[in-house]
Amino acid sequence: MSGSTDNSVNSRRTFAIISHPDAGKTTLTEKLLLQGGAIHLAGEVKARGAARRARSDWMKIEQQRGISVTSSVMTFERTDPDGNTITFNLLDTPGHEDFSEDTYRTLTAVDSAIMVLDAAAGIEPQTLKLFEVCRLRSVPIITLINKIDREGRDAFELLDEIAEKLALDVSPMNWPVGMGGLFEGVFDFEENKLRLPEGDGKEYRGKVVSVEGANDPKLAEFLSPEGVARVAEEGLLAREGYAPFDYEAYRNGDLTPVYFGSALKQFGVTEVIDAIAKYAPPPRPQPSDDGEISPERDEVTGFIFKVQANMDPNHRDRIAFMRQVSGTFKRGMKLTPSGLGKPIAVHSPIMFFAQDREIADTAQPGDIIGIPNHGTLRVGDTLSENNDVRFTGLPNFAPEILRRVILKDPTKTKQLRKALDDLSEEGVIQVFYPELGAQWIVGVVGQLQLEVLVSRLSAEYKVEAVLEQSPFSTARWVLGPEAPLAEFERFNSANLARDRDGDIVFMAKSPWDVNYQAEKHTDLTFSATKER
Ligand code: GDP
Repeated sequence: MSGSTDNSVNSRRTFAIISHPDAGKTTLTEKLLLQGGAIHLAGEVKARGAARRARSDWMKIEQQRGISVTSSVMTFERTDPDGNTITFNLLDTPGHEDFSEDTYRTLTAVDSAIMVLDAAAGIEPQTLKLFEVCRLRSVPIITLINKIDREGRDAFELLDEIAEKLALDVSPMNWPVGMGGLFEGVFDFEENKLRLPEGDGKEYRGKVVSVEGANDPKLAEFLSPEGVARVAEEGLLAREGYAPFDYEAYRNGDLTPVYFGSALKQFGVTEVIDAIAKYAPPPRPQPSDDGEISPERDEVTGFIFKVQANMDPNHRDRIAFMRQVSGTFKRGMKLTPSGLGKPIAVHSPIMFFAQDREIADTAQPGDIIGIPNHGTLRVGDTLSENNDVRFTGLPNFAPEILRRVILKDPTKTKQLRKALDDLSEEGVIQVFYPELGAQWIVGVVGQLQLEVLVSRLSAEYKVEAVLEQSPFSTARWVLGPEAPLAEFERFNSANLARDRDGDIVFMAKSPWDVNYQAEKHTDLTFSATKER
């Protein structure tokens, strides 16, 4: 059955996969797309048409490195046994070590996430960073402990590590019957099913045995005596030793259901996507200056979480990615961007929800729409029909790498300022203008952004610049009552800068510096994030 598309809000799941490089995100993504009929890959959209003729240098960097600097959107559908069709919008976050604020911001546009861990590695640094961003917004997480077809760490140890490092309750939903050479299958606690490998590759091809429970003698027909013990003893111990799955706790971001699997061998893949369908929240209300905006609101509203710029440097064309929050969007509709104040007609939106040949004309809450524009749309902008809402909670993140920008040709100061303002509006970098001294500082969260910056300055703005070490290692937005803030400014002007919105930022030489100031000035807040 091709299935009619259910457009109700409850049929959408907008999510991301967070992981450390090499944990298996790409493999899982591929398997998910194979499982559901992939409707559209954002990459195809990029490849279409003349916009591809000239590429700017930063896209060359992407190519050379074989990585994607930018996130994209993949939409696919699945119909469950009851005939309900769920539409999944998977927003890709770059998996490479060099990631940018884009990665973080993408997480502001999702309603839930799958966290993929390598069974041999557990929680790794990038997983932790991304998890913290999810926690900031109480984004619920489903965990896949991947690569159990290889030697991994002890399953209990992995569960304990998640619980400890992430301060989350963990609830094992299935159990690995051995790992690596001893791998015999996966036991599903929820449905009392044993999923078994087949063939030389020991893949999962759908061989399932239903049993009465973890003690069912029937298991011995399919597993070695050690395997039977793993299910009956370890499995039950795990079930009893950890929290039972609790829907509310998961939705609040306090508990993560944990699935063991192997994306490569297709174990755990159906389970995690079914879990997204069953448990993950449909499009959530979004915070705004006028309270929460419900997806049920009639008016079309949304916010820009990402701008992908300059596919063609001569035309300065950009695609702004809007996460739709409410209403039914129709092609050609007029929306007012908060940054512009006057409406624009969205005639040629890129809709990721488009069947092979037919072009989608509408989008629903939870969907992502790509809006081509010439720089009018900025990250953080709200778009709405009536221009009466401003979404909040799209944070900037304190950069972890700071560099001084040195102009090769000092007469180009004006061009440089324009370029830095533009690029920071796009979210490529953050820029800090020191209170004292003339050397501007750029901040990024990933090394690759620096290369992107230098090549875009040159290619698009004809500004040749080099980046030098800066004496600062991190930045904090300083907030507080007027008087203590003014006092703080008076005594610390050598370490203060303004961001592009003119807000005051403390430039710290070390994390110790931040702690010291925070302890000294208890009436001020030194924030690692800033909401627009
Ligand atoms: P990403 O960097 O997180 O996107 O990771 P990839 O999906 O590219 O996987 C990294 C490597 O691990 C690749 O060589 C994959 O083939 C391999 N891999 C991914 N999942 C599994 C798995 O379940 N089992 C095994 N044995 N290898 C896997």
